[in-house]
Amino acid sequence: MSKNIFLTLVVLLFIMGCKTNPFTGKSTLNFYPNTSIFPTAFAQYDEFLKENKVVESTTEAKMITSVGQRIATAAERWLNSNGYPGYLKDYQWEYNLVQDETVNAWCMPGGKIVFYTGILPICQDETGIAVVMGHEVAHALADHGAQRMSAGMIQQGVAVAGNIAINDLEKRNIFNQAYGIGSTVGVMLPFSRSHETEADRIGLQIMAIAGYNPDEAAELWKRMKVNSGNQAPPEFLSTHPSNDTRIANLTSWAPLAKEEARKYGVTTFQ
Ligand SMILES: [Zn+2]
Repeated sequence: MSKNIFLTLVVLLFIMGCKTNPFTGKSTLNFYPNTSIFPTAFAQYDEFLKENKVVESTTEAKMITSVGQRIATAAERWLNSNGYPGYLKDYQWEYNLVQDETVNAWCMPGGKIVFYTGILPICQDETGIAVVMGHEVAHALADHGAQRMSAGMIQQGVAVAGNIAINDLEKRNIFNQAYGIGSTVGVMLPFSRSHETEADRIGLQIMAIAGYNPDEAAELWKRMKVNSGNQAPPEFLSTHPSNDTRIANLTSWAPLAKEEARKYGVTTFQ
């Protein structure tokens, strides 16, 4: 294929694959409709749960579920009142706590969330869990996984017209690459720095609408910084925003999140 044809194809794909993110108003690259990517994600999630130790019925496990439900309800309220009713119709929210000392949590497309027990001491309490939950739910709402898969398609030149003509095996391979599942158990590849920042901002907004104190988000990242022994790599080496950037952003956004929550009748924050 000549370079020009390839470039034209890429430009066409951008146009066809662009979708507006309701939370940011930004146009994003995404070839995958929910119905195409969610079943793959759901199957992978179930497989992950089968292969790992899911903590059930403890106070902490129940808290993960109840915070998750509260955050998802807040997201739905936000979407409904901003002209996106039905946005979540294909989502199947699920929140699981997995016994693993890794300090991590993640969300697969369609609302499939895992918290590792290792992150609980940093969360400290329900509000800390809400900070992490808001962030993870935000990745799912903003289709960051599908965008990463779309970028992966272009990188690999697997580009096909629109979202048709990609078979299940190819889709599964791209999904596995985007999620790192299958190579290293449960270690999700990091999102890009801009996706992380976006998830921080959206997450803060929905946690506030759910009645959780957005001031606690910066506090959580301060604890994360201490936990990593202040050893985080400098920002330009990392795909993640540095802890300091994150803390500064979250601190400056918290009052705005509270203001947004007031539109939903939320005036006190736990
Ligand atoms: Zn993230």
